[in-house]
Amino acid sequence: MATRSKVKVHDANGDELAGASPAAPGVDQQRIQRAVREILAAIGEDPEREGLLETPARVGRMYAELFSGLHDDPRQHLQKSFTEKYDEVVLVKDISFNSMCEHHMLPFMGQAHIGYLPDGKVIGLSKLARVVEVIARRPQVQERMTESIADLLVDELQAKGVAVVIEATHTCMTIRGIRKPGSVAVTSAMRGVFRSHLSSRSEIMTLIYGDRR
Ligand code: ZN
Repeated sequence: MATRSKVKVHDANGDELAGASPAAPGVDQQRIQRAVREILAAIGEDPEREGLLETPARVGRMYAELFSGLHDDPRQHLQKSFTEKYDEVVLVKDISFNSMCEHHMLPFMGQAHIGYLPDGKVIGLSKLARVVEVIARRPQVQERMTESIADLLVDELQAKGVAVVIEATHTCMTIRGIRKPGSVAVTSAMRGVFRSHLSSRSEIMTLIYGDRR
């Protein structure tokens, strides 16, 4: 995304912002802008009103950023592993993320906790956070996000076990609909020993939650 700041972004109606932003391949900026103008008109607003003139272009750039994970393969971040005799649990807690609920196009945000039990192969800790980032930056549901992170790690790390727990607040539940601020959705995906052995599962859950439970 380093090149994004170089893109000329300001013009009166957004039309000259070609869909060719080098930082966002695969995202059609002009199409997003047309659609946003259409939505503004449809809700009874005036897209030509001064305060709204640049909104379609802003939303276009924002979507390119929020959905950049669609054009990124998380596997590429897991290619560099190390041979290591370490055979205890590796856990990275509280990886914060923002994602976008695919049902309402509203953000949900929270923390991911990822643990695995290596089988001779470990990965840089920051790579786990990178994978969360890529998967989160797609239209998403929390359940699938949890499962896909777990399956990806199983495939790429050949670990003895993988545990993924995600806690998130969904704005589609807090600001609209049932309107329950403070509600947190918790999902988990257990693979390998964390699925088959109750003691391993308890161990990882204790590591994740400590005395919070
Ligand atoms: Zn939703």
